[in-house]
Parts: sequence; C-alpha cells; structure tokens
Amino acid sequence: MASLEIIAVGTELLLGQLVDTNTAYIATHLAAIGADVYGTHAVGDNRARIATAMRNALDRADGVITTGGLGPTVDDLTKEAACDALQLDAVLHEKSLHAMRERFKQFGREMPENNVKQAMLPRGAMVLENPNGTAPGFIAFRSDGKFIASMPGVPREMKPMLNESVLPWLRSRFDLHESIHTRILHTVAIGESEIDRRIDDLFRTLENPKIAVLAHDFRADVKIMAKAGSEEEARSLIVPIEGELLKRLGGHVYGVDDQTLPGAIHALLRETRQTVAVAESCTGGAVCAALTTVPGSSETFIGGVVAYDNAVKASLLGVRQETLASVGAVSEQSAIEMAEGVRRRLGANIGVSTTGIAGPSGGTAEKPVGLVYFGLATAAGARAVRTTFPGDRDAIQHRARVSALAMLWEHLLP
Ligand code: ATP
Ligand code: MG
Repeated sequence: MASLEIIAVGTELLLGQLVDTNTAYIATHLAAIGADVYGTHAVGDNRARIATAMRNALDRADGVITTGGLGPTVDDLTKEAACDALQLDAVLHEKSLHAMRERFKQFGREMPENNVKQAMLPRGAMVLENPNGTAPGFIAFRSDGKFIASMPGVPREMKPMLNESVLPWLRSRFDLHESIHTRILHTVAIGESEIDRRIDDLFRTLENPKIAVLAHDFRADVKIMAKAGSEEEARSLIVPIEGELLKRLGGHVYGVDDQTLPGAIHALLRETRQTVAVAESCTGGAVCAALTTVPGSSETFIGGVVAYDNAVKASLLGVRQETLASVGAVSEQSAIEMAEGVRRRLGANIGVSTTGIAGPSGGTAEKPVGLVYFGLATAAGARAVRTTFPGDRDAIQHRARVSALAMLWEHLLP
C-alpha cells in the first residue's frame, strides 16, 4: 500500500487568489489507483518552507507529490527545495535542455538563458516529460527510497504528466492492482432525505461497492464505488447494485455518469419525435440556455421567449389582458397561457413556461418571494404547478430552472 501526501506550491494559493484545483484532481486520481493520501498542503513560493513541508511529509508518508513552482522564474523554487529536502545536488539534464531548445526553435524563438535552470534536476532523478510545456517534471529519491514527484502547476501540463507518467510509475512501484471504479446515478425531483429513506439499509451495509449520496443544489447523485482488480470485476460488482438502486429510486434517475438533464430531455424528445418551446419570465432565458447545451439540440428545441414585461407576455405569447388584470402574471392561469402561447406561436409539440417572483423585492403575503408557477402545454391540454423556493435570487432562479427541466423530463418519461 502506498501512502502519499500532496503539496501544492504557490503564494497565489495562500492569498486566495487561485483556487487549488490541482490538489483535488491529483487526490481523486491517487484514490482511484488505490493509494492512500495522508495529507494535502499548500505552501508559498519560499524555498525553506517548501523544503520543510516536504521533509515533514516524508516523515509520515512513502512519497510526496508536488504541483507548481517548476518554471524558469525566480519564484519557482520547488526543485531547489526538493534538493534540500532530499539532500541532493542539482545536475544538468542534457536531454531536457535539448528538448527545451527544440521547443523554442519550433516556435521560432531563441531560448532565454534562465530556462537552462529548468533542465537542472536533482541528482539521480527520473525525468517526466512535459509535451505541453517547457518545464519537465521529475521523481527524485531520498537515500531510504522515499521520493518526491514534482509536476508543473499549469493544469494542462500537470494532468497528462500525472496520468501518463506518475500514476503508471506508482502502480508498478507499489504493486497497486486494485483500483476504484465509480458509477454515478443522477436524480432529480426527489429530496436527499427521501433518497436516504429509500436506500438507507444499502448505505449502512454495503462494503464493496460502497454507495454515497452527494447533494447538489436541488439535485442529488448516488455514487456507487467498487474496488476491483479489473474493469470487468468492477462492473460485475456495480451492475446488481445499480439495478437495485434504479428499482428503489424509480422514475427519478435521469442519467448516469456524464449524462445531463438537458441531455436526457433531448434524448426523450428525439425518441418520441417531439419538439419543445419555452416561455420564461423569472428564469430569464436560463431554461433555454440549458436546453441548448446539448449538441444537436436544434433537432428538438425550437426556441423561446423571455417574456419579462407583461406587455411581452400579452403581445408575443397571447396571455390575455383579462388574466393579467385579474390574477396577475405570477399565477397558474398566466403560466398556462404562456405555455400554450409559446407552443402555438413557435409551432412546437410541447410548451413550457416559468413565471415567479425571484426577489429580493416584489413579494407579498399572498405571493411571497420564491413563488414560481411552471406551465406545460401539449396538444392534449395544459397544466401548471405551483412551488415556493427558499433562498436568495440566485438560488430561486437556479432552482426554478432545474424544476422546469425536471417537469419537462417527467412529462416525457414513458
Ligand atoms: P510555469 O512554468 O508556467 O511557471 P510552474 O510549474 O512554475 O509553471 P506555477 O508558476 O506555480 O507553475 O503556476 C503557473 C500557473 O498554473 C498558475 O498561475 C495557475 O494558473 C496554475 N496553477 C498553479 N498551481 C495550481 C493549482 N494548485 N491549482 C490550479 N491551478 C494552478
Ligand atoms: Mg511558475
């Protein structure tokens, strides 16, 4: 079993100017090959403090993975610190120097001399090629065999180096044959506590695979994680549990892994050869924007109207003056007329609408902030549902968008 610690280097990280996405990425991938991460740290661009962090980490773990601070500038100090921590001197790596010169030539430029520094590596280090940048990474060793693996900070350079060099090396060095495979079931229109109630026993008793519920804002995912020596073995562990979960969460799972709610809607519309048009008030076009995230959405999404002002609801969607005057724009009747209007005028099979009060002002006792009506119209008729969302303007608009999509998806379910 490999125990590792991760150190992200960069003063920007400590000032809160840069969000450390590299650590999360590295941690996820180390867990996936079955390595144990004992700690993660962020350190500024200071040679002594980076070296101390490395030494401390090496006291606890078999190895340290670092990201950042490998570049040519004076504040790039990771390599020097690694030499200090491992008690090694730096030597010129001719092949890296040559590769760097070639790279500059390719771009038609002369290599600045401070780049030579990047080809200096701790004595005895393994070099990790960087096809996407100039600074090579390296794995350098302490006399007792513990190691520091250093990669650049730029995510576009770090990720391929991790996947193509560091992870395969760790697998063979620590004989890591088990890896974690995951399957994610995406649900909508069911609360986290209701999911818990339905799968609580599995949650408590399952060991491999394990399951976990991840709540997002107004949606939840159920993750199945299997530890296995091969893809097939993992599948055989996951499939029966996935079947059981689908049975228990029936009608709320819209997709797995990379599938999105708009993607699921698009697929169902295509299957049933239907089209949709959307009339939006309080969501301001967000439902249309979501539907167009799917490649090929022009096949099933006709278009929409952002009808914010009542005059637009009346003129473009045909909402009746009488309706607006008697029950107002935020009402069941207006939602129905908006959905019918957009369906008819844009020539779609299905019309969807949103109208509500996103706040923070504009609420009354009768129509509080967060009140939203969703309309859905087809050739067979129209209906509307009323919901009240908690939260600020942002949250209400977000929830209204997800709910409108959920309503459409549920309507399309066979
Ligand atoms: P370079 O050769 O570009 O100088 P480097 O290895 O020295 O690479 P840094 O100088 O530490 O890396 O960081 C370069 C850039 O990479 C940062 O400005 C930032 O955009 C990104 N970056 C660095 N560390 C992280 C991190 N932990 N998470 C996300 N992005 C990062
Ligand atoms: Mg740098």
